[in-house]
Amino acid sequence: MKAPAVYTCSSCRDTGWIVSRSEQVETAVPCPDCRKTRTTNRLLKDAGIPPRYFERGLEAYSAQDRSQMEALKRAAEYVEAFPDVPRGLLFVGKPGVGKTHLSVAILKKLILEKNVAGKFIDETEFLRRLQYSYGPDSAETEREVLLPLMKVDLLVWDDLGTGRPTEWAMETIRTLLNHRYTFQKQTIFTTNWSLRAPGAKPGETTEQALAERIGPRLLSRIMEMAEIVQVTGPDFRTEVRKAGMDFVQSRRRADQIVVQAGRLQCEKCGSVSIEERGKSEVKRNRSGEFVDVFCSCRDCAREFIARVYPGKNRIEYLKSLED
Ligand code: ADP
Repeated sequence: MKAPAVYTCSSCRDTGWIVSRSEQVETAVPCPDCRKTRTTNRLLKDAGIPPRYFERGLEAYSAQDRSQMEALKRAAEYVEAFPDVPRGLLFVGKPGVGKTHLSVAILKKLILEKNVAGKFIDETEFLRRLQYSYGPDSAETEREVLLPLMKVDLLVWDDLGTGRPTEWAMETIRTLLNHRYTFQKQTIFTTNWSLRAPGAKPGETTEQALAERIGPRLLSRIMEMAEIVQVTGPDFRTEVRKAGMDFVQSRRRADQIVVQAGRLQCEKCGSVSIEERGKSEVKRNRSGEFVDVFCSCRDCAREFIARVYPGKNRIEYLKSLED
């Protein structure tokens, strides 16, 4: 018996057209579902999401304390309410608590579910592009760097206060954010710098506060643009290094094993930041389940296939996908 045909788009059976017939006339219109898929794919491509974070969804964020639970809740509420949201979000917390993870997850979900035009920008990268844009051999002008960031409906500004902008670059950032504020465009920020307790003066705390990094004027604008979401908890990357040889596993769905943390040394960089790779194709056999894992250290991103033994907290390294 012939197997039934499998179509990517069940609405138009991959023809790109929806044909309707009345008594005598046959009309064809472009398939709206295919058009939506094309738009979503273009938006995803344009968003500039770093590959490392591409598969980090809200469902992959496992809250380690109350603040992370609250941050996850705020992220989900934000997606749900968008575009009817009064302000953006400012995720504040130490490195490794998942601020970028949550911000990217919001951005990607909004693209997939609501076709929102959004962009991710890392502050250091932004300042570098801005600076290069003035060079004689620059591939892009200042206007080409700034315009998309001014216009886009949702901007994720990662690592606020990390760069060391000149006074002139700071002025450019102020102009950009003022524009977004005036035109009611949503911005989500992340920062590793603390927000000093109200009333505290510089020097009263050993922590360098965000205000000292970006200046009080810019900070006050950002406070108007975004709601503060404090995230505490362990540095996920360090915790992964500390976790013993066993993998902590949790079953999210019946057919999927999620490796949350573990210690499997990466052959390439020696780091032990091994995690499950997004939506890996999990295959089963009697002795265990195969799962793709990858090294999530900043510069390696090496991929492996491993076998996970459900309920036994044991993982067996099988082979690197790059061999
Ligand atoms: P931050 O932006 O706060 O410095 P990141 O979002 O870059 O931290 O997180 C570092 C790594 O740890 C990423 O791979 C991220 O997916 C992961 N991570 C951090 N917190 C969590 C969490 N609570 N649950 C799952 N993964 C997390």
